[in-house]
Amino acid sequence: MTTAQTPASNVISEARDPVFDELDFPTDPDNLYTQTVAVTLHAAELLDLRHRVRIICAQPKNEIMVHFPVRMDDGHHRLFKGYRVQHNNVLGPYKGGVRFHPEVHLDDVKSLALLMTMKCSLVRVPYGGAKGGVKVNPREHTPDEMQRITRRFASAISPFIGPDYDIPAPDVGTNAQTMAWFADTYMMSQPQSNTQDALRIVTGKPVEFGGSLGREKATGQGVVDVVVEMLPEFNLSIEGMRVSVLGFGNVGSWAARILADMGAKVVAVMDHTGGLRNDEGFDCDALAAHTAKTGGVAGFGQDAGSGSGQNTAQGGQAISEDEFYQTPVDVFIPAALEQMIKHRQAAMMNCKIVAEGANSPCDPSGDRELQRRGIEVLPAILANAGGVTVSYFEWVQNKSCVIWDAEHVDTELNRHMVMAARRTRLARQRFKCDMRTAAFAAALEHIGKTYDVRGIFP
Ligand code: NAD
Repeated sequence: MTTAQTPASNVISEARDPVFDELDFPTDPDNLYTQTVAVTLHAAELLDLRHRVRIICAQPKNEIMVHFPVRMDDGHHRLFKGYRVQHNNVLGPYKGGVRFHPEVHLDDVKSLALLMTMKCSLVRVPYGGAKGGVKVNPREHTPDEMQRITRRFASAISPFIGPDYDIPAPDVGTNAQTMAWFADTYMMSQPQSNTQDALRIVTGKPVEFGGSLGREKATGQGVVDVVVEMLPEFNLSIEGMRVSVLGFGNVGSWAARILADMGAKVVAVMDHTGGLRNDEGFDCDALAAHTAKTGGVAGFGQDAGSGSGQNTAQGGQAISEDEFYQTPVDVFIPAALEQMIKHRQAAMMNCKIVAEGANSPCDPSGDRELQRRGIEVLPAILANAGGVTVSYFEWVQNKSCVIWDAEHVDTELNRHMVMAARRTRLARQRFKCDMRTAAFAAALEHIGKTYDVRGIFP
């Protein structure tokens, strides 16, 4: 049954939940944190969750802000601002990525930390939720400067994290190399500790340095696992299925490559450098190689001098942002930044399913428009939970000094993703709501039960 056929409750209740006033929340409707808490409280209402669990989940436990100076290559120093938000650890150590981006703000980091709490609960990995970030544009710095920024940030937050307390990972603007610098810095500051233990301070490390096979592609693989599990509801099959991908970084490019390998056609892509369309389906491995080399999808398959807008055998036709959203597809995968799908974009989209690779890619107006149009949204806390799941596998391997083979990682990841998808589907049937609310309800119920058995100190 699709959302269009379901008597769905609104994604976000129009009325302001009394918890907002009790906790003195801002009234700004565009605030991402307020929006994420609104979805959480809406699900809590359906569950009739205890008041004490609602107020706990509505605010992070700890919000850490640091400022640190870093020497640039030309000798001058710049001061950077960084955050680590630890939302909740009732299910296990805090866990969540670190983002390097010029638009990192505290409320966005809080929102992403809350999503991590829900995500870990939904896929049943024994972690709580956290998120970090540094306000920096990695594209404006040399690798040497990025290494020093990473090491100073790691050093600044190291008193607040730990291999069994709070475990960072990569996110937008960070990668396995960033995690290697981060882990090395932490290990240098703990010379007395067992090296193997200190290695667990971050996940998403390079395979040569304690990383897990399959971690790099894990989030994209998880998106695909969820899509495959849900496809029968839409009478769709992977073979020949048309897909568009917004953002062609880690998540987007891996989801695209895996789907193309399985027989789907990735017909439209867009990133910060531009949009491309190819109705025959892109060679996604070649597109990923081009993006790694040039920094974006623009110019793919175009010989020097052929100009943009040319349709080449390997490449595609350059398209505008509106044309990208309007391209007819079965599955649309947002895998760029937050809040890119507003009402305007949602009204243009021509798809059956949105599989959220990115966190919070839809704002409430976009969400409502997709729901009104009967477009099913597979929410981020379900669809992109593959990354944290394989991060957990990496942490387990480091902790027990074993190495899993790639097949074992894929099998275990698939098991977690399929079970989380089924949990979400069951919650949707039980509460007759949209998928996003259902996923939050399934996650919150587990958290609520844990608080019931643990009780609240003192
Ligand atoms: P990334 O830095 O590898 O890629 C980000 C992509 O977004 C790039 O292709 C970039 O060009 C594109 N982009 C940026 N601004 C854009 C714009 N204005 N228009 C179009 N495209 C734009 O990041 P990532 O790791 O792939 O993360 C993408 C999303 O997935 C984020 O929301 C992140 O929080 C989420 N996520 C990532 C992981 C992970 O394991 N990496 C896990 C869970 C969720």
